Amino acid sequence: MAERLSAEQTLLEQTLREALDFARPHIGAGTVASYIPELAKANAAHLGACIMTADGGCLCSGDWQHDFTMQSISKTITLILALKLAGREKVFSKVGVEPTGDTFNSIVKLETKTHFPLNPMINAGAIAISGCCIRASVNPHGEFLKLAGKLCGRQNIEMDNAVYLSEHNAGMRNRSMAYLMHGEGVLECDAEAAVDLYFKTCSTLANVRDLAHYALVLANNGKSPTTGEVLVEDWIVRIVKTLMLTCGMYDGSGEFAIRAGMPGKSGVGGGIMVCAENKMGIATFAPALNSKGNSSGGLLVIEYLSQKLGLHLFSGNVHYGAEGNAL
Ligand code: GLN
Repeated sequence: MAERLSAEQTLLEQTLREALDFARPHIGAGTVASYIPELAKANAAHLGACIMTADGGCLCSGDWQHDFTMQSISKTITLILALKLAGREKVFSKVGVEPTGDTFNSIVKLETKTHFPLNPMINAGAIAISGCCIRASVNPHGEFLKLAGKLCGRQNIEMDNAVYLSEHNAGMRNRSMAYLMHGEGVLECDAEAAVDLYFKTCSTLANVRDLAHYALVLANNGKSPTTGEVLVEDWIVRIVKTLMLTCGMYDGSGEFAIRAGMPGKSGVGGGIMVCAENKMGIATFAPALNSKGNSSGGLLVIEYLSQKLGLHLFSGNVHYGAEGNAL
């Protein structure tokens, strides 16, 4: 059994290396985020990935030890926290569950469609649910870090203070959304407090091993692969993974669902995490982003793994190239 397992691990390790080799020549097509000045310091050549398997395997490759800020990946944790603290009814009285087709930082539908953000994976939605956490807890950031630490299987989870300050100083678009939602009664707390919690949670540091652990918790229906503890209730897991599948890559969600076929979430820090149902958690890091704010290298690594390992939820054997011919 041990021999068979280790042969499987060797094969997986080789596939992971191949996936990185496949993506590496193309990461130059993207650019690092610069609208948060501190993120502009990222190294566009970085590329790392980790796969954690339900049977206890952990395979890391490339720049896997590098810590980066979760950015929008944190929105999934804020959503879990808000659902735990405030409950389903409250949360979904503040935010919808529909994809927008707009960029992650778009403000337009808050004015033209409904004052309630369309889903929790866009900035406006994450700010609204940050407001729910503030209303439901006296120490929402502390609770967020505690939950994030458990989900990532990491004791010393912390915030990157320089990124937080940079976002705090430059995040006027996010601030505008918070004030608009406060004015319309969507936010029931101070607009500055909601946006501040949002900036703090986005600035949480993690590496791909931490995020693969978190992805595996969700793939495992909420159970920690290391402690066996149920960290997320099954009804919450279902909501979070469904929203990741439909909205996790913003206006690139449909294409990602076709090409990779797994619930995924990206962040402008360069991370992507995906859940291979009951099998594995996968995370990638490559800070150069495509025009939709998703990591160019990470997308290619995940699409390669999805195809080679047969991870697509709806299987079909799609042949694709780095140029994007999957559709
Ligand atoms: N903190 C970032 C912002 O508000 C998060 C965006 C992202 O990762 N897509 O713009």
